[in-house]
Amino acid sequence: MNILIATPEAVPYAKTGGLADVAGALAKELSGLRIPVRLVMPFYREVMDKLKGAEDLGRSIHVPVGGKTYTGRLYGHESAVFIRCDGFFDRPELYGTPEGDYPDNAERYVFFSRGVLEAARALRFRPDVIHAHDWQSALIPLYIKTLYRNDEYFKATKTVFTIHNLGYQGLFPGESLPVTGLPPDVFNPEGIEFYGMLNFLKGGIAGADAITTVSPTYAKEILTPGQGFGLEGFLAKRARALSGIINGIDYALWDPVRDPHIPENYSAKDPAGKNACKKALLRRCSFVNPAAPVAAFVGRLSAQKGLEILVSAAGDMLKEGLNLVFLGKGDESYQGAIKKLALAHGGSIYAHIGFDEEFSHLIYAGSDLFLMPSLYEPCGLGQMIALRCGSLPLARKTGGLADSIVNYTPLSGRGTGFLFDEPSAYSLMGALRTALCVYADKKRWGKVVGAAMRADFSWRKSVKKYVELYGGLLGEFK
Ligand code: ADP
Repeated sequence: MNILIATPEAVPYAKTGGLADVAGALAKELSGLRIPVRLVMPFYREVMDKLKGAEDLGRSIHVPVGGKTYTGRLYGHESAVFIRCDGFFDRPELYGTPEGDYPDNAERYVFFSRGVLEAARALRFRPDVIHAHDWQSALIPLYIKTLYRNDEYFKATKTVFTIHNLGYQGLFPGESLPVTGLPPDVFNPEGIEFYGMLNFLKGGIAGADAITTVSPTYAKEILTPGQGFGLEGFLAKRARALSGIINGIDYALWDPVRDPHIPENYSAKDPAGKNACKKALLRRCSFVNPAAPVAAFVGRLSAQKGLEILVSAAGDMLKEGLNLVFLGKGDESYQGAIKKLALAHGGSIYAHIGFDEEFSHLIYAGSDLFLMPSLYEPCGLGQMIALRCGSLPLARKTGGLADSIVNYTPLSGRGTGFLFDEPSAYSLMGALRTALCVYADKKRWGKVVGAAMRADFSWRKSVKKYVELYGGLLGEFK
């Protein structure tokens, strides 16, 4: 079974979000299972800088985009294939600058998507399954069903399309249709039209043999008006092809047992080192009350992450005697609000505005509670890392958070975190008070921390589900 992963980003080459982790881990694990795999992505400047030794594979491809034909050169590294076209990809960022998206993103990702198919052919890698990710490669399943329908080379190829975040759909003016090279009859509500606009993501939904998203709960939520971003009706028509497969995390990078970035290592069996990590975090944040529990937020400062809730609950959280750490960057308004809080409550609120992976390791290891009040969360990695580090998630019961955190119940004394339903400060505070009751009972707290640290979110489990999905499409039932 030949698998081609088409993705706009992948670890360790270029990353802006969780998609890169998924694509990179999937390629690595499939290779480990000796399944022939090629991960195809653009040769961005970032990749060029990181991979001085990428091998020129000696093949070029020619891709029509609108009225022009562009040439791409293929480079390789391990199972990855990079499509080089400097005019499109030799840029400082992947998708755009802080001023906005690159104006030719439609051309760039049409070139990439058709380029993936031409690259497979040029490299004589006949894919049994093409697994495309997010809007940037969403047209591939539709190309297979239209422009390439009578192409012998892809006759037996099945397609899987994964939605990592429905909030990003690749919307362009309707007049851009000729850029795609697709026949005009796909520009209708059953195809890639979306209220007069061109919607790349719809191409993946319409064309793929199987559609997945990154948690079972999110797969259900996107069928509802609240979380469907206008595509709930369209998705509902393909509900039988839709499933959710939860992401994993890389325990080689995120495990306090061997993490070189924290002051002392620890494990579920021997948790003593967590105390040293907490002490280091308290020092770093200059917290004045070392006996108080530390609650932390690490993430993008965007509305999706529930920042409104956090900012409005901060005062009440302080009244409960918490220390609060924020690490994040993003929307100017949230950056400002968080800086203001830290300034007003130095000694109990600490904020670092920026992206700082090193510091995030100390926060995960040194905190007691990890805050994720997300409005929606397709999967979420933060809570999985926090669980492994014994920082108990205080999170909204949505998407991947609902699927990866077991809500603590006082009656059973079991759980791995504290979940709340309503997206409000009031609801968050309710869950926090439960958490603080448990925190006050060291024995009970230790039991919940142990259960959290033992929860397994390794990639192996998720990849097995993808392999089963591929096998199902190819008629290989196990
Ligand atoms: P999303 O992909 O929606 O941004 P996830 O929870 O899936 O959210 O993944 C976010 C990842 O990025 C986590 O590993 C988190 O630790 C990391 N991260 C986010 N913001 C920062 C930051 N400012 N500094 C360091 N790491 C961060």
